[in-house]
Amino acid sequence: MPPAARSRYVTDSSVTERREVIVVGGGQAGLAIGYFLAQQGCNFTILEAAEEPAAAWRERWDSLKLFTPVRYNSLPGLPFPGDSDHYPGRDEVAAYLTDYVRHFDLPVELGSRVRSIRKTNGTYLVEPDDRTYEADQVVVATGPFQVPLVPAIAEGLDAEVVQLHSSAYRTPEGFPEGPILVVGGGNTGFQIAEELSASHEAHLSIGSRQMPLPQRILGRDLFWYLEATGLIRKTTASRIGRRMSGRDTLIGSTPRALRRRHGVQLHGRAVDAAGATVSFSDGTKLDIGTVIWATGFGVDHSWIDAPVFDENGRVVHQRGVTESPGLYFLGLTWQHTRGSALLGWVKDDAEYIAREISAFRPTARAETRVPERVG
Ligand SMILES: Cc1cc2nc3c(=O)[nH]c(=O)nc-3n(C[C@H](O)[C@H](O)[C@H](O)COP(=O)(O)OP(=O)(O)OC[C@H]3O[C@@H](n4cnc5c(N)ncnc54)[C@H](O)[C@@H]3O)c2cc1C
Repeated sequence: MPPAARSRYVTDSSVTERREVIVVGGGQAGLAIGYFLAQQGCNFTILEAAEEPAAAWRERWDSLKLFTPVRYNSLPGLPFPGDSDHYPGRDEVAAYLTDYVRHFDLPVELGSRVRSIRKTNGTYLVEPDDRTYEADQVVVATGPFQVPLVPAIAEGLDAEVVQLHSSAYRTPEGFPEGPILVVGGGNTGFQIAEELSASHEAHLSIGSRQMPLPQRILGRDLFWYLEATGLIRKTTASRIGRRMSGRDTLIGSTPRALRRRHGVQLHGRAVDAAGATVSFSDGTKLDIGTVIWATGFGVDHSWIDAPVFDENGRVVHQRGVTESPGLYFLGLTWQHTRGSALLGWVKDDAEYIAREISAFRPTARAETRVPERVG
């Protein structure tokens, strides 16, 4: 949006800017909805906390390879570059998302962490540190992986034991000699343990086994089958969708392959930690110098003041549409389907919410009210 199109006025001492729509978060979800809002000619801004686009991808480990090939990584309107069967790395995704902003000239304001969203007199007030936006509608696209989770047993380890969450892991270099324990049997734990096994005695603690799926079957990528069978678009309203959403999948690896091919030593769930010793549910113990907690993430929506959360803090929504009129979420894990939080499918939910936004617009509402009054 050209700056001239933005209205700006001053109330009290703080600057308030007005938009039809504010999108909070400039990752793939925020950019995908930005594409559709721009197509509608909407007056909107995307507020992004980080100083660069694609912040979440830049913070992932150096050797990260996507489990989705190029053909399934495109946001709406711009193909992901490269051979369709290539599995891109972290930096290729960051470059693509950066290019996406430039290509569509999306109005992303970097360095703008939103501290609060609240509603007064039917308008949302969205507040980064130094200013306030008034908006008719708000899309929260702040990502499914926000707060690193570490189990409480971590507190039992001595200060000499090096501990980090997987979100802080970059390369195998720089760790002290000796065994390294990775805790967490998901894709992240498997990939990090495999990488470390080339230079260290690597151990992996698997708390709950995830369903292993091969990356390629008969020369085709797994996601080709998920597309062809329609499974990737099964919704949480369907029985199979509910079953799939309750079970995480491990793509391209198995415990057996990790042990045999890479020599990673496997353990059960880590149940206790004291000094430099971690105890596992299978009764074994291990003395370690380094622990990497690949134990997942939580979300923090405490800065959103709206009656849209259940007693456990989970967003209550129908495909991202909340009970607070004009407030939406986008990019949640299993928001609607398995694809909801993936590069190649987030556009489905983004397009849906963009249509909801368009229908909710004050002008659209005024237009639809007229026939009702006449009739
Ligand atoms: C290790 C790993 C591997 C993955 N591999 C794949 C893969 O192979 N293929 C695939 O399709 N998907 C993959 N994903 C999943 C998914 O694509 C990513 O998690 C993706 O980053 C989610 O996009 P998003 O836009 O919803 O959230 P994010 O990318 O997390 O973006 C959210 C943005 O919001 C900003 N933000 C947060 N809070 C605020 C605030 N208060 N104010 C302003 N801005 C804020 C953040 O800075 C961030 O830039 C992977 C995920 C992980 C963790």
